[in-house]
Amino acid sequence: MQPIAIHAAFDSGNIETRRISGAQAWLELRPDPGNAFKQWFHFGISGAHGRELVLKIGDLNNSAYPAGWPGYHAAVTEDRLHWNRATSSFDANEDGGTLTIRYTPSGDLAWFAYFAPFSLERHMELVARSAAAKGVGHRVLGHSLDGRPIDCLELGEGEKHVWLFARQHPGESMAEWWMEGALAKLTDHSDPVARALRKAVRFHIVPNCNPDGSFRGHLRTNAVGTNLNREWDNPTPEQSPEVLAIRNAMDETGVHFAIDVHGDEAIPHVFLAGFEGMAGLQPHQQAGFDRYSALLDAQTPDFQTRHGYPITPAGRGNPAMATNQLAARYGCVSMTLEMPFKDHDDLPDPVQGWSAERSSQLGRSCLDALYRWLKES
Ligand code: ZN
Repeated sequence: MQPIAIHAAFDSGNIETRRISGAQAWLELRPDPGNAFKQWFHFGISGAHGRELVLKIGDLNNSAYPAGWPGYHAAVTEDRLHWNRATSSFDANEDGGTLTIRYTPSGDLAWFAYFAPFSLERHMELVARSAAAKGVGHRVLGHSLDGRPIDCLELGEGEKHVWLFARQHPGESMAEWWMEGALAKLTDHSDPVARALRKAVRFHIVPNCNPDGSFRGHLRTNAVGTNLNREWDNPTPEQSPEVLAIRNAMDETGVHFAIDVHGDEAIPHVFLAGFEGMAGLQPHQQAGFDRYSALLDAQTPDFQTRHGYPITPAGRGNPAMATNQLAARYGCVSMTLEMPFKDHDDLPDPVQGWSAERSSQLGRSCLDALYRWLKES
């Protein structure tokens, strides 16, 4: 029987094939430019003929987050529509750290990814569909280094400006699934919460801050290897035009409330990170963050407040990160929302793990919490 064949020359594809024997393959990840980060993968397999595939991704002790692999199961699909999980195991002592994925497709084809991908085509469909909805405006804030638009959707009639933005780190595709849920809710005229929110605030929504990195199959950087969430104090046209465009637009409107949507490789929970380390904050900012966190906790069992990043000591906040820069620059309540690549261990799903569907649902829940947050403030 023919050996399997492996390909990744498509939107968000990423894999290097070292060796194939029958239905078994030895693979490595292609790092972001500058060799700094590797963790994202997305590739297709043909010629499975119903055999059990054994896929070994090596050298993972040199990946960006080695702690992301224990307890992780790879995402798999056969129809490109529904993504489940394929049983995977990590051995730090095999070939520099190896993730072994085992999966038996029903037919010849299967695709594997670090998380259910959100393609550039789907991004354009999301932007087009949202922009066509009643009362929604679209503007291009600027362009990426590869010449892609930084799309921003604008809606609502209120005077307070709410900014929602995602995928500074392109491999965190759950962030754009979150956006798909949030935009579906906000453009649903039969949704009373959406109607009230649109009356109360003006939304500025950037579903994908890093289209180049997304298309190129990067984990954390843009076309030239810049980590956009380390550029917010000094973005440049050469290294980070995406951030420069977004921050200039924020300077025009000011910011009352902002969520920067991400995924975390290692922690199997949904959590928020704030701006505690920044100097010169107003008391209402931390109180506003804490109140939103409590409201979201009450809103959905897919969120929790026990697990997350350690609090940054006062005065040690990094102003190059969006949440910190926004809190200091605009005196607003800003936050980083983190979703897992693994699962949400408080409410696990053995079939799908944390999924595109639950990310979308969380986008809706975050808006429900925002409605209550605005009502009480
Ligand atoms: Zn991130």
